[in-house]
Amino acid sequence: MQTIEEIIILDCYKKQPKDVEALNNIKRRILRTIKAGYIPTSTQLLKAYHKLVKENKIKLSPQLEQNLLRRAVRTLSGVTIVTALTKPFPCPGECTYCPTEARMPKSYLSDEPAAARALSLAFDPYEQTWKRLEALKKNGHPIDKVELIIKGGTWNSYPITYQYWFIARCFEACNRTRKSTVSEKMNIEDLRKQMVKIQNKNEKAKHRIIGLTLETRPDFINKKTVEAMREMGTTRIEIGVQHLDPKIMEMTKRGHGLKETVEATKLLRHYGFKVDYHLMPQLPGSTPAKDLKMMRQIFSDPRLRPDMIKIYPCTVVKNSELYEWVANGTFKPYSDKHLLRILKEFKSDVPYYLRISRLIRDIPSHHIMAGNMMTNLRQLIQFEMKAEGTTCHCLRCREVGHQTEINWDKEKITKFVDTYESSGGTEYFISFENATRDAVLAFCRFRIDPDGNYPAFIRELHVYGQSLEIAKRKLGASQHTGMGKEMMKTAMDICRENKIPRLAVISGVGVRDYYRKLGAKLEGNYMVFDIK
Ligand code: SF4
Repeated sequence: MQTIEEIIILDCYKKQPKDVEALNNIKRRILRTIKAGYIPTSTQLLKAYHKLVKENKIKLSPQLEQNLLRRAVRTLSGVTIVTALTKPFPCPGECTYCPTEARMPKSYLSDEPAAARALSLAFDPYEQTWKRLEALKKNGHPIDKVELIIKGGTWNSYPITYQYWFIARCFEACNRTRKSTVSEKMNIEDLRKQMVKIQNKNEKAKHRIIGLTLETRPDFINKKTVEAMREMGTTRIEIGVQHLDPKIMEMTKRGHGLKETVEATKLLRHYGFKVDYHLMPQLPGSTPAKDLKMMRQIFSDPRLRPDMIKIYPCTVVKNSELYEWVANGTFKPYSDKHLLRILKEFKSDVPYYLRISRLIRDIPSHHIMAGNMMTNLRQLIQFEMKAEGTTCHCLRCREVGHQTEINWDKEKITKFVDTYESSGGTEYFISFENATRDAVLAFCRFRIDPDGNYPAFIRELHVYGQSLEIAKRKLGASQHTGMGKEMMKTAMDICRENKIPRLAVISGVGVRDYYRKLGAKLEGNYMVFDIK
């Protein structure tokens, strides 16, 4: 007898939905007619797809697989991602490749998925968060642990009261506090006080914010902005590095260079943040060789070495200055073939601690006038690397949820501790993986920093699972098998060996309770352990 997941996959295979929305419609229609009693998760659907392929009941379908993966990625990493966009506001940058649309925040197009949602809700942070949670729940995603990602222009160029208000309202949506307790017009001190109350409430809320990401420019990172962002509950900062070559940066009017990136990275690390770089190959003045060199330098230079990167190959869209350069023939991006080649070369030799989160930006193809047109770039790279016998070691490719073909009965779970230097400190990448390091079950980013705000930090602790309801045990799921505690113990042992008395965790607000139960105390915005 066919399972509900198999029925959905077989129907999708026949109809080949063109995007995730069309796939959801098929799923909803089937669930309406068959009283399944539960909503299959994206991961269950993906597993059913692989099973049917293995049993030769369907053939490999890159389009269907891509849409299933897009759905699954939201929960494979153990959390549900909610994106909110800030209102249109002038950006201090003048980057030639950046599109301008009057009713949108700088760099966003009104028909990009998250941007379209934000526009339809007048960029209201509460409505964006709440509506997204409702939609995800309707599609079968657990929504108890939320990673909040705030996008739109340069965060630190918005008025500080807007910044606090915007994030407070996102928290209030997760706390289900419909009637706002904050306003943009409040003075900053009152907003800060109210933020503390709202965050405390979120510690026990139904939808806990376990991570918060902001995006900004390296030249907007300073002690004041970093401390404010931490106070808002931020755990990860994405900075637009774009390139390291000074000539390319100048040509594209980026307005900063390597020096600002080095300083921003150092400061963010001193405060324990996770650091995510945006990189742009295919820019004017660049060549495949220069781009490959730049990507490799990011990891050979100990002043850089981010935890994650997003690679956004330059795409030329109409309402950008770069479009004029293309139109008058002064710029022609190098070919997709070269881009594919250098990305494969780069990916075949990356450190285990790196996560390559994105390889393209989701720009609707009708906007793209020149530059990368490969919307399935990740799948293409994976496919070709497999055929050529190479593999990518990045975390994204090795997450246990993406490794659906591994038979864990035959695997030995092994603990690894990799060390490397970065921004004047020592990083320890502690992980639980299979012995051949193809699949990661859990990892921890632990740092010893003689110049840090604290002498040692847990910058990230992640046990992959299927986003189980908090504290609900499910036999065999990796979320509750003690790997998190074991990695904490390893970090504390390293502290003892190095005579470090205190260990701070840059904890998301919704995870404070977890660390509290392990003996940490809230100190400012960090959960702090005294090491005995
Ligand atoms: S800083 Fe970012 S948002 Fe501002 S112009 Fe440059 S790319 Fe666009």
